[in-house]
Amino acid sequence: MNALRDSPILSMSDVTKSYRSGGSLLAASGRRVVALDRISLEINAGEIFGLVGESGSGKTTASRLIVGLETPDDGQIRFGGENIVGLKGRAKREFTKQVQVIFQDPYQSLNAHLSIFDTVCEPLVIHGIGDRGSRRIRVCEALETAELTPPEAYLNRYPHQLSGGQRQRVAIARAMVLEPRFLIADEPTSMLDASISFQIFRLLHRLRETFGVTMLFITHSLAAARNLCDRVGVIYRGRLAEQGTARETIMHPRHPYTKALLDAHPRFGCSNRHGFDTLRDVERPRPETDHCLFYPRCRLAVDNLCNLHAPILKTLDAGHRVSCFLF
Ligand code: ADP
Ligand code: MG
Repeated sequence: MNALRDSPILSMSDVTKSYRSGGSLLAASGRRVVALDRISLEINAGEIFGLVGESGSGKTTASRLIVGLETPDDGQIRFGGENIVGLKGRAKREFTKQVQVIFQDPYQSLNAHLSIFDTVCEPLVIHGIGDRGSRRIRVCEALETAELTPPEAYLNRYPHQLSGGQRQRVAIARAMVLEPRFLIADEPTSMLDASISFQIFRLLHRLRETFGVTMLFITHSLAAARNLCDRVGVIYRGRLAEQGTARETIMHPRHPYTKALLDAHPRFGCSNRHGFDTLRDVERPRPETDHCLFYPRCRLAVDNLCNLHAPILKTLDAGHRVSCFLF
């Protein structure tokens, strides 16, 4: 398993994606929003990798690029060594069987008109797998995998008859029914209560242990990432700020933005904060030239350096990488 965990199953190299926003069909003059800016990362087989950042930092864009719902402007995305940008036809279908996504909102991601059986069975139908009898068995197994037991009690129910946590488990069963190698969970618990979220984390963890499925876990919460992930990448405005083992990154954060994210979380059972205090009270104007994207908000920023140059990701000890001039 460890040897497996050391080879990348997914890699992104220098991936950039921008959108036009604010323009209309007639006047395509909108501002260009760079959602991802030369992102490079590797996810090893069997690991749970956390992509952490606040809303709008580019996390969902990364997941949409990986599953092929969007195409990068630049850069390469490889899965199992194969370039997956622009896959078509049979190769695309094979790939979509191996990579599944669980979305944030279990209220919107499930079709209200489909029974739980039809919801979980649909991917088998789409991919032409099995017949009536074998599909029913696979659906029941997938529901059991998602800890909806006994599965027969769920088959004829509809999403509106289930709780938020149960719906998310149905989404997990639907993702797992194809026995994927790679699962993307895009903020899967942000609509759920804390105790239900914790159960879902445990379930995701068990999926990795039982099936060896590799995971990209997307979250705005470093606390959630610490619960679940082996390694994390902290993303700020489409650029990687820091990357390392979950433990090292959270116990010994280097980037002022990672520290700010930790400061935003009071420690469990203890009212005082981490006390890094890296955020300015008032944001500075964004420099016109190249700059560290965190400069306007960074209390530690060095003038004539951070506002004039963009830092690059540097490797510190034990694979810990940070993009900040202070290191
Ligand atoms: P996150 O998932 O981290 O909240 P997103 O990847 O959804 O971030 O968005 C990153 C940036 O890209 C945001 O500024 C967002 O407004 C912009 N963006 C995302 N999708 C689109 C789109 N289809 N059209 C225009 N802008 C978009
Ligand atoms: Mg998102």
